[in-house]
Amino acid sequence: MSWLRAVYSFFYELLFGCSHGHLTRPFTIATHSYKVCLDCGKQFPYSLEKMRTIHSWEAARQTAHAVPAATVSAMPAPAAFAPSEAYEPREAVA
Ligand SMILES: [Zn+2]
Repeated sequence: MSWLRAVYSFFYELLFGCSHGHLTRPFTIATHSYKVCLDCGKQFPYSLEKMRTIHSWEAARQTAHAVPAATVSAMPAPAAFAPSEAYEPREAVA
């Protein structure tokens, strides 16, 4: 019967695509967690807080919240623009 199931799954995947029935357990690399379909290799984002697979837009939103806010600070003015000497008019040489 296993060959009958293999033929059925072949035509099912041919007509409807992979049903993603065989997923791995969650993997986490750096800050990205995901599951992988063992049949077609597609990755599914996984939330460690919700303990389930999530949509890609939810994963993008979590990544956006995880990035720290940028800090803005003023740079010191370069020395070329600082007044170094007082202006003193000199006599013209004829
Ligand atoms: Zn699949």
